[in-house]
Amino acid sequence: MTGTPWANHYPGEVPLSLDYPKQSLGHFLEQSASLYPNQTAVSFLGKTLSYRQLLEQSYRFGNALKSLGVKKGDRIGIILPNSPQSIIAYYGALLIGAVVVQFNPMYMEREIHHQAADSGPQILVCLDLIYPKVINAIKGTPVEKIIVTSIKDYLPFPKNLLYPLKARKEGQYVEVSYSSNVLPFKNLIKSSSATPVKEDIDFSEDLALLQYTGGTTGLSKGVMLTHENLVSNTYQAMKWCWKCQPGKETMLSVLPFFHVYGMTVGMNLAIMLGAKMILLPRFQPADVLQTIEKERPTMFPGAPTMYIALLNHPDLKKYDLSSIEACISGSAPLPVEVQERFEEITGGRLVEGYGLTEASPVTHCNPIWGGRKNGSIGLPWPDTICKIVDPETLQEVERGKPGELIVKGPQVMKGYWNRPSETAEVLKDGWLLTGDIATVDEEGYFYIVDRKKNMIIAGGFNIYPREVEEVLFEHPAILEAAVIGVPDPYRGETVKAFIVLKEGHSVSESELNSFCRERLSAYKVPRLYEFRKELPKTMVGKVLKRALQEEESKGMSSQ
Ligand code: AMP
Repeated sequence: MTGTPWANHYPGEVPLSLDYPKQSLGHFLEQSASLYPNQTAVSFLGKTLSYRQLLEQSYRFGNALKSLGVKKGDRIGIILPNSPQSIIAYYGALLIGAVVVQFNPMYMEREIHHQAADSGPQILVCLDLIYPKVINAIKGTPVEKIIVTSIKDYLPFPKNLLYPLKARKEGQYVEVSYSSNVLPFKNLIKSSSATPVKEDIDFSEDLALLQYTGGTTGLSKGVMLTHENLVSNTYQAMKWCWKCQPGKETMLSVLPFFHVYGMTVGMNLAIMLGAKMILLPRFQPADVLQTIEKERPTMFPGAPTMYIALLNHPDLKKYDLSSIEACISGSAPLPVEVQERFEEITGGRLVEGYGLTEASPVTHCNPIWGGRKNGSIGLPWPDTICKIVDPETLQEVERGKPGELIVKGPQVMKGYWNRPSETAEVLKDGWLLTGDIATVDEEGYFYIVDRKKNMIIAGGFNIYPREVEEVLFEHPAILEAAVIGVPDPYRGETVKAFIVLKEGHSVSESELNSFCRERLSAYKVPRLYEFRKELPKTMVGKVLKRALQEEESKGMSSQ
Protein backbone atom coordinates (compact mmCIF):
# COMPACT_ATOMS: atom_id res chain seq x y z
CA MET A 1 0.00 0.00 0.00
CA THR A 2 1.23 3.45 -0.83
CA GLY A 3 0.43 6.03 1.74
CA THR A 4 2.35 8.00 4.27
CA PRO A 5 5.74 7.20 2.66
CA TRP A 6 4.70 9.49 -0.21
CA ALA A 7 4.63 12.28 2.26
CA ASN A 8 8.33 12.00 3.06
CA HIS A 9 8.74 15.36 1.49
CA TYR A 10 7.08 17.22 4.34
CA PRO A 11 9.03 20.23 5.48
CA GLY A 12 10.80 19.28 8.71
CA GLU A 13 8.63 21.53 10.84
CA VAL A 14 5.43 19.63 10.13
CA PRO A 15 5.25 16.21 11.76
CA LEU A 16 3.79 13.31 9.81
CA SER A 17 1.71 12.13 12.68
CA LEU A 18 0.10 14.26 15.33
CA ASP A 19 -0.98 13.69 18.87
CA TYR A 20 -4.56 14.98 18.64
CA PRO A 21 -6.23 16.58 21.64
CA LYS A 22 -9.17 14.32 22.51
CA GLN A 23 -11.52 17.16 23.38
CA SER A 24 -14.81 18.27 21.91
CA LEU A 25 -14.78 21.26 19.58
CA GLY A 26 -16.39 23.53 22.20
CA HIS A 27 -13.38 22.97 24.44
CA PHE A 28 -11.21 25.05 22.10
CA LEU A 29 -13.39 28.10 22.55
CA GLU A 30 -13.13 27.58 26.32
CA GLN A 31 -9.36 27.21 25.98
CA SER A 32 -8.92 30.41 23.97
CA ALA A 33 -11.22 32.28 26.38
CA SER A 34 -9.03 31.16 29.25
CA LEU A 35 -5.70 31.88 27.50
CA TYR A 36 -6.68 35.14 25.79
CA PRO A 37 -9.80 36.41 27.62
CA ASN A 38 -9.43 40.01 26.49
CA GLN A 39 -8.20 39.36 22.97
CA THR A 40 -10.75 40.36 20.34
CA ALA A 41 -12.36 37.21 19.01
CA VAL A 42 -14.81 38.82 16.58
CA SER A 43 -14.87 42.09 14.75
CA PHE A 44 -18.06 42.68 12.80
CA LEU A 45 -18.94 45.95 11.09
CA GLY A 46 -17.29 47.93 13.87
CA LYS A 47 -18.57 45.85 16.82
CA THR A 48 -16.13 43.64 18.68
CA LEU A 49 -16.45 40.75 21.15
CA SER A 50 -13.57 39.43 23.22
CA TYR A 51 -12.96 35.71 23.66
CA ARG A 52 -14.42 35.92 27.16
CA GLN A 53 -17.59 37.57 25.81
CA LEU A 54 -17.87 35.12 22.93
CA LEU A 55 -17.68 32.16 25.30
CA GLU A 56 -20.09 33.74 27.77
CA GLN A 57 -22.66 34.39 25.03
CA SER A 58 -22.21 30.84 23.71
CA TYR A 59 -22.90 29.49 27.22
CA ARG A 60 -25.99 31.69 27.40
CA PHE A 61 -27.21 30.41 24.07
CA GLY A 62 -26.48 26.81 25.10
CA ASN A 63 -28.46 27.32 28.32
CA ALA A 64 -31.31 28.89 26.34
CA LEU A 65 -31.44 25.85 24.06
CA LYS A 66 -31.44 23.56 27.09
CA SER A 67 -34.35 25.44 28.63
CA LEU A 68 -36.21 24.95 25.33
CA GLY A 69 -35.76 21.21 25.81
CA VAL A 70 -32.79 20.58 23.51
CA LYS A 71 -30.83 17.48 24.51
CA LYS A 72 -27.57 15.93 23.44
CA GLY A 73 -27.81 14.56 19.90
CA ASP A 74 -30.73 16.83 18.92
CA ARG A 75 -30.21 18.77 15.70
CA ILE A 76 -30.14 22.57 15.59
CA GLY A 77 -30.45 24.28 12.21
CA ILE A 78 -28.53 27.50 11.60
CA ILE A 79 -29.38 29.72 8.61
CA LEU A 80 -27.11 32.72 9.07
CA PRO A 81 -24.47 34.62 7.17
CA ASN A 82 -21.11 35.14 8.91
CA SER A 83 -21.93 37.20 12.00
CA PRO A 84 -21.35 36.99 15.76
CA GLN A 85 -24.69 35.18 16.03
CA SER A 86 -23.57 32.47 13.61
CA ILE A 87 -20.60 31.65 15.87
CA ILE A 88 -22.57 31.92 19.12
CA ALA A 89 -25.36 29.67 17.83
CA TYR A 90 -22.82 27.14 16.49
CA TYR A 91 -20.68 26.93 19.63
CA GLY A 92 -23.68 27.25 21.98
CA ALA A 93 -25.24 24.21 20.32
CA LEU A 94 -21.99 22.22 20.25
CA LEU A 95 -21.23 22.90 23.90
CA ILE A 96 -24.47 21.20 24.95
CA GLY A 97 -23.82 18.23 22.66
CA ALA A 98 -26.38 19.22 20.00
CA VAL A 99 -25.64 18.57 16.33
CA VAL A 100 -25.41 21.62 14.08
CA VAL A 101 -27.03 21.58 10.65
CA GLN A 102 -25.83 24.47 8.51
CA PHE A 103 -28.17 25.94 5.90
CA ASN A 104 -27.14 28.31 3.15
CA PRO A 105 -29.15 31.55 3.71
CA MET A 106 -29.48 31.89 -0.06
CA TYR A 107 -31.43 28.63 -0.27
CA MET A 108 -34.90 28.76 -1.72
CA GLU A 109 -37.88 27.43 0.25
CA ARG A 110 -37.73 24.05 -1.48
CA GLU A 111 -34.09 23.54 -0.52
CA ILE A 112 -34.63 24.61 3.10
CA HIS A 113 -37.60 22.28 3.28
CA HIS A 114 -35.64 19.30 1.95
CA GLN A 115 -32.78 19.81 4.38
CA ALA A 116 -35.03 20.46 7.40
CA ALA A 117 -37.17 17.41 6.61
CA ASP A 118 -34.11 15.22 6.12
CA SER A 119 -32.10 16.32 9.18
CA GLY A 120 -35.05 16.84 11.53
CA PRO A 121 -34.06 19.79 13.76
CA GLN A 122 -36.68 20.98 16.27
CA ILE A 123 -35.17 24.46 16.30
CA LEU A 124 -33.89 26.70 13.52
CA VAL A 125 -31.91 29.90 14.05
CA CYS A 126 -32.36 32.39 11.23
CA LEU A 127 -31.96 35.99 10.19
CA ASP A 128 -35.03 38.24 10.27
CA LEU A 129 -34.62 39.07 6.59
CA ILE A 130 -35.18 35.46 5.55
CA TYR A 131 -37.77 34.64 8.20
CA PRO A 132 -40.73 34.78 5.72
CA LYS A 133 -38.99 32.22 3.52
CA VAL A 134 -38.17 30.00 6.51
CA ILE A 135 -41.67 30.04 7.97
CA ASN A 136 -43.05 28.69 4.69
CA ALA A 137 -40.23 26.23 4.16
CA ILE A 138 -40.63 24.42 7.48
CA LYS A 139 -44.25 23.40 6.93
CA GLY A 140 -44.41 19.63 7.18
CA THR A 141 -40.95 19.31 8.80
CA PRO A 142 -40.11 18.52 12.46
CA VAL A 143 -39.14 22.18 13.11
CA GLU A 144 -41.18 23.50 16.06
CA LYS A 145 -39.45 26.71 17.01
CA ILE A 146 -37.57 29.45 15.20
CA ILE A 147 -35.07 31.74 16.87
CA VAL A 148 -34.82 34.98 14.93
CA THR A 149 -31.94 37.40 14.97
CA SER A 150 -31.20 40.60 13.18
CA ILE A 151 -27.88 41.86 11.91
CA LYS A 152 -28.49 44.96 14.01
CA ASP A 153 -28.50 42.82 17.21
CA TYR A 154 -24.73 43.05 17.07
CA LEU A 155 -24.21 46.48 15.59
CA PRO A 156 -22.77 49.18 17.82
CA PHE A 157 -25.82 51.46 17.78
CA PRO A 158 -28.47 49.85 19.98
CA LYS A 159 -30.89 52.76 19.79
CA ASN A 160 -30.49 52.88 16.08
CA LEU A 161 -33.48 53.82 14.03
CA LEU A 162 -31.49 53.98 10.91
CA TYR A 163 -31.49 50.30 10.15
CA PRO A 164 -35.26 49.76 10.09
CA LEU A 165 -35.76 52.95 8.12
CA LYS A 166 -33.12 52.12 5.57
CA ALA A 167 -34.21 48.50 5.32
CA ARG A 168 -37.86 49.54 5.00
CA LYS A 169 -36.92 51.89 2.18
CA GLU A 170 -35.08 49.11 0.42
CA GLY A 171 -38.00 46.75 0.93
CA GLN A 172 -35.95 44.45 3.15
CA TYR A 173 -37.54 45.19 6.47
CA VAL A 174 -39.37 42.27 7.96
CA GLU A 175 -41.82 42.49 10.81
CA VAL A 176 -41.48 39.26 12.79
CA SER A 177 -44.46 38.32 14.96
CA TYR A 178 -42.88 36.77 18.02
CA SER A 179 -44.73 34.07 19.93
CA SER A 180 -43.92 31.05 22.06
CA ASN A 181 -42.62 29.38 18.91
CA VAL A 182 -40.87 32.36 17.35
CA LEU A 183 -38.28 33.71 19.74
CA PRO A 184 -35.91 36.67 19.58
CA PHE A 185 -32.26 35.61 19.78
CA LYS A 186 -31.29 38.77 21.62
CA ASN A 187 -33.76 38.21 24.46
CA LEU A 188 -32.78 34.58 24.82
CA ILE A 189 -29.16 35.59 25.25
CA LYS A 190 -30.08 38.29 27.77
CA SER A 191 -32.37 36.16 29.87
CA SER A 192 -30.26 32.99 30.02
CA SER A 193 -27.58 32.12 32.49
CA ALA A 194 -23.90 32.33 31.57
CA THR A 195 -22.95 29.37 33.73
CA PRO A 196 -20.78 26.92 31.83
CA VAL A 197 -22.76 24.30 30.01
CA LYS A 198 -20.92 21.03 30.16
CA GLU A 199 -22.06 17.97 28.38
CA ASP A 200 -20.09 14.72 28.27
CA ILE A 201 -19.18 14.28 24.67
CA ASP A 202 -17.79 11.11 23.16
CA PHE A 203 -15.02 12.53 21.01
CA SER A 204 -15.02 9.80 18.37
CA GLU A 205 -18.67 8.81 18.30
CA ASP A 206 -20.76 11.91 18.92
CA LEU A 207 -21.77 13.98 15.93
CA ALA A 208 -20.97 17.68 15.86
CA LEU A 209 -22.30 18.48 12.42
CA LEU A 210 -24.56 17.37 9.61
CA GLN A 211 -23.17 19.18 6.60
CA TYR A 212 -25.25 18.95 3.44
CA THR A 213 -23.57 18.37 0.12
CA GLY A 214 -24.38 16.96 -3.29
CA GLY A 215 -21.26 14.83 -2.89
CA THR A 216 -20.46 12.47 -5.71
CA THR A 217 -24.02 11.31 -6.29
CA GLY A 218 -25.82 14.64 -6.73
CA LEU A 219 -28.69 14.34 -4.25
CA SER A 220 -28.18 16.65 -1.25
CA LYS A 221 -27.35 14.53 1.81
CA GLY A 222 -26.09 15.15 5.33
CA VAL A 223 -22.43 14.33 5.93
CA MET A 224 -22.03 13.13 9.52
CA LEU A 225 -18.94 14.73 11.04
CA THR A 226 -17.94 13.88 14.60
CA HIS A 227 -16.09 16.04 17.09
CA GLU A 228 -13.02 13.95 16.30
CA ASN A 229 -13.35 14.68 12.57
CA LEU A 230 -13.62 18.44 13.06
CA VAL A 231 -11.06 18.75 15.85
CA SER A 232 -8.54 16.64 13.90
CA ASN A 233 -8.91 18.66 10.72
CA THR A 234 -8.62 21.95 12.61
CA TYR A 235 -5.60 20.66 14.52
CA GLN A 236 -3.98 19.51 11.27
CA ALA A 237 -4.61 23.01 9.87
CA MET A 238 -3.04 24.62 12.92
CA LYS A 239 0.08 22.49 12.63
CA TRP A 240 0.22 23.21 8.92
CA CYS A 241 0.32 26.94 9.67
CA TRP A 242 3.34 26.33 11.85
CA LYS A 243 4.55 29.93 11.69
CA CYS A 244 1.19 31.31 12.88
CA GLN A 245 1.34 32.54 16.43
CA PRO A 246 -1.45 31.57 18.84
CA GLY A 247 -3.16 34.62 20.29
CA LYS A 248 -1.61 36.97 17.73
CA GLU A 249 -3.11 36.34 14.32
CA THR A 250 -5.96 38.12 12.54
CA MET A 251 -8.13 36.05 10.20
CA LEU A 252 -10.21 37.55 7.42
CA SER A 253 -13.29 35.31 7.57
CA VAL A 254 -15.20 35.98 4.38
CA LEU A 255 -15.65 32.35 3.29
CA PRO A 256 -19.11 31.46 4.56
CA PHE A 257 -19.18 29.48 7.80
CA PHE A 258 -22.17 27.49 6.54
CA HIS A 259 -19.78 25.87 4.06
CA VAL A 260 -17.45 23.32 5.62
CA TYR A 261 -14.31 25.01 4.25
CA GLY A 262 -15.14 28.41 5.76
CA MET A 263 -16.25 26.70 8.95
CA THR A 264 -13.01 24.77 9.50
CA VAL A 265 -10.43 27.19 8.15
CA GLY A 266 -12.13 30.56 8.71
CA MET A 267 -13.80 29.89 12.08
CA ASN A 268 -12.64 26.76 13.94
CA LEU A 269 -8.96 27.30 13.10
CA ALA A 270 -9.19 30.96 14.15
CA ILE A 271 -10.75 29.91 17.47
CA MET A 272 -8.19 27.17 18.11
CA LEU A 273 -5.44 29.72 17.42
CA GLY A 274 -7.08 32.41 19.56
CA ALA A 275 -7.06 34.66 16.49
CA LYS A 276 -9.13 37.76 15.88
CA MET A 277 -11.79 37.04 13.25
CA ILE A 278 -12.82 39.85 10.93
CA LEU A 279 -16.25 38.78 9.74
CA LEU A 280 -17.66 39.77 6.39
CA PRO A 281 -21.19 38.51 5.70
CA ARG A 282 -20.59 38.38 1.93
CA PHE A 283 -17.80 38.63 -0.56
CA GLN A 284 -17.69 42.02 -2.24
CA PRO A 285 -14.26 42.82 -3.69
CA ALA A 286 -14.24 46.51 -2.73
CA ASP A 287 -15.25 45.70 0.89
CA VAL A 288 -12.59 43.03 1.13
CA LEU A 289 -9.84 45.35 -0.13
CA GLN A 290 -10.89 48.11 2.25
CA THR A 291 -11.13 45.69 5.16
CA ILE A 292 -7.66 44.29 4.51
CA GLU A 293 -6.18 47.78 4.55
CA LYS A 294 -8.07 48.80 7.68
CA GLU A 295 -8.01 45.65 9.81
CA ARG A 296 -4.67 44.25 8.61
CA PRO A 297 -5.45 40.52 8.65
CA THR A 298 -2.52 38.12 8.49
CA MET A 299 -4.54 35.12 7.24
CA PHE A 300 -7.07 35.06 4.43
CA PRO A 301 -8.38 31.67 3.34
CA GLY A 302 -10.39 31.89 0.13
CA ALA A 303 -11.44 30.35 -3.14
CA PRO A 304 -9.74 31.01 -6.49
CA THR A 305 -12.60 33.17 -7.76
CA MET A 306 -12.15 35.49 -4.77
CA TYR A 307 -8.47 36.06 -5.46
CA ILE A 308 -9.24 36.51 -9.16
CA ALA A 309 -11.93 39.10 -8.42
CA LEU A 310 -9.58 41.06 -6.13
CA LEU A 311 -6.76 41.02 -8.67
CA ASN A 312 -9.12 42.35 -11.32
CA HIS A 313 -10.53 45.14 -9.18
CA PRO A 314 -9.81 48.49 -10.84
CA ASP A 315 -8.67 50.06 -7.53
CA LEU A 316 -6.47 47.18 -6.43
CA LYS A 317 -3.27 49.23 -6.48
CA LYS A 318 -4.74 51.88 -4.18
CA TYR A 319 -4.90 49.53 -1.20
CA ASP A 320 -2.21 48.39 1.18
CA LEU A 321 -2.52 44.61 1.36
CA SER A 322 0.88 44.00 2.92
CA SER A 323 -0.46 42.56 6.19
CA ILE A 324 -1.39 39.29 4.44
CA GLU A 325 0.98 36.47 5.35
CA ALA A 326 -0.78 33.15 4.76
CA CYS A 327 -3.63 32.22 2.44
CA ILE A 328 -4.94 28.78 1.56
CA SER A 329 -6.99 28.53 -1.60
CA GLY A 330 -9.33 25.58 -1.88
CA SER A 331 -12.54 24.26 -3.40
CA ALA A 332 -11.41 24.59 -7.03
CA PRO A 333 -8.16 24.73 -9.03
CA LEU A 334 -6.00 27.79 -8.41
CA PRO A 335 -4.48 29.15 -11.62
CA VAL A 336 -0.71 29.59 -11.20
CA GLU A 337 -0.85 33.08 -12.69
CA VAL A 338 -3.35 34.15 -10.01
CA GLN A 339 -1.22 32.67 -7.24
CA GLU A 340 1.91 34.48 -8.42
CA ARG A 341 0.24 37.87 -8.93
CA PHE A 342 -1.50 37.73 -5.57
CA GLU A 343 1.78 36.96 -3.83
CA GLU A 344 3.52 39.75 -5.68
CA ILE A 345 0.90 42.27 -4.62
CA THR A 346 0.57 41.23 -0.98
CA GLY A 347 4.06 39.92 -0.27
CA GLY A 348 2.38 36.97 1.53
CA ARG A 349 2.03 33.31 0.61
CA LEU A 350 -0.93 31.83 -1.24
CA VAL A 351 -0.97 28.05 -1.54
CA GLU A 352 -3.43 25.60 -3.01
CA GLY A 353 -5.13 22.97 -0.91
CA TYR A 354 -7.80 20.40 -1.58
CA GLY A 355 -10.61 18.73 0.24
CA LEU A 356 -14.25 17.76 0.27
CA THR A 357 -17.14 17.99 2.71
CA GLU A 358 -16.82 14.27 3.47
CA ALA A 359 -13.32 14.95 4.88
CA SER A 360 -14.16 17.94 7.12
CA PRO A 361 -12.86 19.11 4.45
CA VAL A 362 -9.05 19.34 4.02
CA THR A 363 -6.94 16.35 3.01
CA HIS A 364 -4.09 18.00 1.05
CA CYS A 365 -2.26 21.27 0.95
CA ASN A 366 0.99 22.70 -0.29
CA PRO A 367 3.39 23.68 2.44
CA ILE A 368 2.79 27.37 3.11
CA TRP A 369 6.44 28.11 3.71
CA GLY A 370 8.79 26.35 1.31
CA GLY A 371 8.45 23.20 -0.75
CA ARG A 372 5.35 23.92 -2.77
CA LYS A 373 4.69 22.96 -6.35
CA ASN A 374 2.63 25.09 -8.67
CA GLY A 375 -0.45 23.44 -10.09
CA SER A 376 -0.35 20.77 -7.38
CA ILE A 377 -2.74 20.40 -4.45
CA GLY A 378 0.34 19.59 -2.38
CA LEU A 379 0.92 16.84 0.13
CA PRO A 380 -1.50 14.87 2.27
CA TRP A 381 -2.01 16.36 5.70
CA PRO A 382 -0.56 14.48 8.69
CA ASP A 383 -2.13 11.06 9.30
CA THR A 384 -3.91 11.25 5.94
CA ILE A 385 -3.03 8.34 3.72
CA CYS A 386 -3.86 8.25 0.05
CA LYS A 387 -4.00 5.91 -2.90
CA ILE A 388 -4.61 6.48 -6.59
CA VAL A 389 -6.74 3.63 -7.89
CA ASP A 390 -8.55 2.40 -10.93
CA PRO A 391 -12.14 3.64 -10.33
CA GLU A 392 -13.59 0.30 -11.42
CA THR A 393 -11.33 -2.25 -9.70
CA LEU A 394 -10.00 -0.03 -6.87
CA GLN A 395 -6.56 -1.47 -7.60
CA GLU A 396 -3.68 0.97 -7.34
CA VAL A 397 -2.48 2.34 -10.65
CA GLU A 398 1.15 2.81 -11.63
CA ARG A 399 2.81 5.84 -10.03
CA GLY A 400 2.30 8.93 -12.21
CA LYS A 401 -0.81 7.55 -13.97
CA PRO A 402 -4.23 9.12 -13.35
CA GLY A 403 -6.78 7.32 -11.21
CA GLU A 404 -9.36 8.00 -8.50
CA LEU A 405 -7.97 9.54 -5.33
CA ILE A 406 -9.02 7.67 -2.20
CA VAL A 407 -8.12 8.83 1.31
CA LYS A 408 -8.16 7.62 4.90
CA GLY A 409 -7.62 9.78 7.98
CA PRO A 410 -9.08 11.09 11.23
CA GLN A 411 -11.00 13.78 9.32
CA VAL A 412 -13.00 11.32 7.18
CA MET A 413 -16.75 11.31 7.88
CA LYS A 414 -18.73 8.66 9.65
CA GLY A 415 -21.11 8.38 6.71
CA TYR A 416 -24.20 10.03 5.21
CA TRP A 417 -27.11 10.66 7.55
CA ASN A 418 -29.75 7.95 7.12
CA ARG A 419 -28.31 6.83 3.79
CA PRO A 420 -26.51 3.52 4.24
CA SER A 421 -26.39 2.63 0.55
CA GLU A 422 -24.90 6.00 -0.52
CA THR A 423 -22.44 5.65 2.37
CA ALA A 424 -21.41 2.18 1.20
CA GLU A 425 -20.77 3.58 -2.29
CA VAL A 426 -18.13 6.03 -1.09
CA LEU A 427 -16.74 4.54 2.14
CA LYS A 428 -14.99 1.22 1.61
CA ASP A 429 -12.99 -0.26 4.52
CA GLY A 430 -12.50 3.25 5.92
CA TRP A 431 -11.28 4.58 2.55
CA LEU A 432 -13.19 7.58 1.22
CA LEU A 433 -13.64 7.49 -2.55
CA THR A 434 -13.32 11.15 -3.46
CA GLY A 435 -14.68 10.93 -7.01
CA ASP A 436 -11.71 13.04 -8.14
CA ILE A 437 -9.16 11.87 -10.68
CA ALA A 438 -5.61 12.64 -9.58
CA THR A 439 -1.97 11.81 -10.16
CA VAL A 440 0.96 11.79 -7.78
CA ASP A 441 4.57 12.57 -8.66
CA GLU A 442 7.79 10.99 -7.45
CA GLU A 443 8.02 13.36 -4.50
CA GLY A 444 4.51 12.65 -3.31
CA TYR A 445 2.80 15.81 -4.57
CA PHE A 446 -0.74 15.31 -5.80
CA TYR A 447 -2.40 16.88 -8.83
CA ILE A 448 -6.13 16.93 -9.47
CA VAL A 449 -6.79 16.03 -13.08
CA ASP A 450 -10.54 16.49 -12.82
CA ARG A 451 -13.69 15.20 -11.27
CA LYS A 452 -14.59 11.66 -12.33
CA LYS A 453 -18.03 12.72 -13.42
CA ASN A 454 -16.79 15.77 -15.37
CA MET A 455 -14.79 13.62 -17.73
CA ILE A 456 -15.90 14.03 -21.33
CA ILE A 457 -15.76 11.08 -23.69
CA ALA A 458 -15.61 12.35 -27.27
CA GLY A 459 -15.17 9.81 -30.06
CA GLY A 460 -13.75 7.36 -27.53
CA PHE A 461 -11.15 9.79 -26.17
CA ASN A 462 -11.17 10.82 -22.51
CA ILE A 463 -10.98 14.58 -22.05
CA TYR A 464 -10.58 16.25 -18.67
CA PRO A 465 -12.18 19.71 -18.82
CA ARG A 466 -9.67 21.15 -16.42
CA GLU A 467 -6.85 20.72 -18.92
CA VAL A 468 -8.81 22.64 -21.54
CA GLU A 469 -9.81 25.32 -19.03
CA GLU A 470 -6.19 25.87 -18.09
CA VAL A 471 -5.29 26.54 -21.70
CA LEU A 472 -8.19 28.94 -22.12
CA PHE A 473 -7.17 30.67 -18.94
CA GLU A 474 -3.78 31.46 -20.47
CA HIS A 475 -5.49 33.64 -23.09
CA PRO A 476 -5.04 37.31 -22.12
CA ALA A 477 -8.67 38.24 -22.87
CA ILE A 478 -10.21 35.49 -20.74
CA LEU A 479 -11.32 36.11 -17.17
CA GLU A 480 -13.08 32.80 -16.55
CA ALA A 481 -13.71 29.62 -18.48
CA ALA A 482 -15.74 26.47 -17.84
CA VAL A 483 -15.73 23.46 -20.09
CA ILE A 484 -18.39 20.74 -20.21
CA GLY A 485 -19.35 17.86 -22.48
CA VAL A 486 -22.53 18.25 -24.55
CA PRO A 487 -24.29 15.50 -26.52
CA ASP A 488 -23.06 15.01 -30.06
CA PRO A 489 -24.70 12.58 -32.49
CA TYR A 490 -21.40 11.60 -34.08
CA ARG A 491 -18.80 11.72 -31.27
CA GLY A 492 -21.13 10.85 -28.36
CA GLU A 493 -20.06 14.03 -26.60
CA THR A 494 -18.28 17.14 -27.70
CA VAL A 495 -16.41 19.88 -25.86
CA LYS A 496 -18.14 23.16 -25.14
CA ALA A 497 -16.47 26.17 -23.50
CA PHE A 498 -18.28 28.91 -21.62
CA ILE A 499 -16.18 32.05 -21.58
CA VAL A 500 -16.28 35.27 -19.54
CA LEU A 501 -14.05 37.97 -21.03
CA LYS A 502 -12.07 40.54 -19.07
CA GLU A 503 -13.61 44.00 -19.21
CA GLY A 504 -12.72 45.88 -22.38
CA HIS A 505 -11.39 42.76 -24.15
CA SER A 506 -12.77 40.92 -27.12
CA VAL A 507 -11.82 37.76 -28.95
CA SER A 508 -13.52 35.75 -31.69
CA GLU A 509 -14.36 32.06 -31.69
CA SER A 510 -11.91 31.40 -34.49
CA GLU A 511 -9.10 33.16 -32.61
CA LEU A 512 -9.83 31.01 -29.58
CA ASN A 513 -9.92 27.95 -31.75
CA SER A 514 -6.45 28.65 -33.17
CA PHE A 515 -5.17 29.42 -29.67
CA CYS A 516 -6.39 26.05 -28.39
CA ARG A 517 -5.19 24.14 -31.46
CA GLU A 518 -1.65 25.33 -30.84
CA ARG A 519 -1.75 23.98 -27.31
CA LEU A 520 -4.03 20.92 -27.27
CA SER A 521 -4.55 17.74 -29.26
CA ALA A 522 -7.29 18.29 -31.81
CA TYR A 523 -9.84 16.10 -30.00
CA LYS A 524 -9.62 18.29 -26.88
CA VAL A 525 -10.21 21.60 -28.67
CA PRO A 526 -13.70 22.99 -27.94
CA ARG A 527 -16.10 22.76 -30.86
CA LEU A 528 -18.56 25.14 -29.27
CA TYR A 529 -18.06 28.43 -27.47
CA GLU A 530 -20.50 30.55 -25.57
CA PHE A 531 -19.63 34.01 -24.25
CA ARG A 532 -21.28 35.04 -21.01
CA LYS A 533 -21.21 37.95 -18.59
CA GLU A 534 -20.78 35.56 -15.67
CA LEU A 535 -20.85 31.88 -14.79
CA PRO A 536 -23.21 30.25 -12.28
CA LYS A 537 -21.29 29.69 -9.03
CA THR A 538 -21.66 28.28 -5.56
CA MET A 539 -21.29 30.49 -2.50
CA VAL A 540 -17.59 29.63 -2.31
CA GLY A 541 -17.14 30.56 -5.93
CA LYS A 542 -16.99 27.13 -7.51
CA VAL A 543 -18.41 27.07 -11.03
CA LEU A 544 -21.67 25.13 -11.02
CA LYS A 545 -21.05 22.81 -13.95
CA ARG A 546 -24.22 20.93 -13.13
CA ALA A 547 -26.21 24.12 -13.76
CA LEU A 548 -24.50 24.58 -17.13
CA GLN A 549 -25.23 20.95 -18.00
CA GLU A 550 -28.86 21.35 -17.01
CA GLU A 551 -29.23 24.48 -19.12
CA GLU A 552 -27.73 22.62 -22.05
CA SER A 553 -30.05 19.68 -21.69
CA LYS A 554 -33.07 21.97 -21.40
CA GLY A 555 -31.89 23.73 -24.54
CA MET A 556 -31.84 27.04 -22.68
CA SER A 557 -28.38 27.84 -23.86
CA SER A 558 -27.98 30.09 -26.84
CA GLN A 559 -25.99 27.49 -28.82
P1 AMP B 1 -17.26 20.27 -1.50
O1 AMP B 1 -17.63 18.98 -0.87
O2 AMP B 1 -18.41 21.14 -1.86
O3 AMP B 1 -16.24 21.00 -0.67
O4 AMP B 1 -16.56 19.93 -2.89
C1 AMP B 1 -15.44 19.08 -2.94
C2 AMP B 1 -14.91 19.00 -4.34
O5 AMP B 1 -14.33 20.24 -4.75
C3 AMP B 1 -13.78 18.00 -4.49
O6 AMP B 1 -14.25 16.67 -4.58
C4 AMP B 1 -13.12 18.49 -5.76
O7 AMP B 1 -13.80 18.03 -6.91
C5 AMP B 1 -13.27 20.01 -5.69
N1 AMP B 1 -12.02 20.63 -5.22
C6 AMP B 1 -11.71 21.02 -3.98
N2 AMP B 1 -10.47 21.58 -3.94
C7 AMP B 1 -9.98 21.52 -5.21
C8 AMP B 1 -8.75 21.91 -5.84
N3 AMP B 1 -7.78 22.51 -5.18
N4 AMP B 1 -8.62 21.65 -7.15
C9 AMP B 1 -9.59 21.04 -7.85
N5 AMP B 1 -10.78 20.67 -7.33
C10 AMP B 1 -10.98 20.90 -6.02
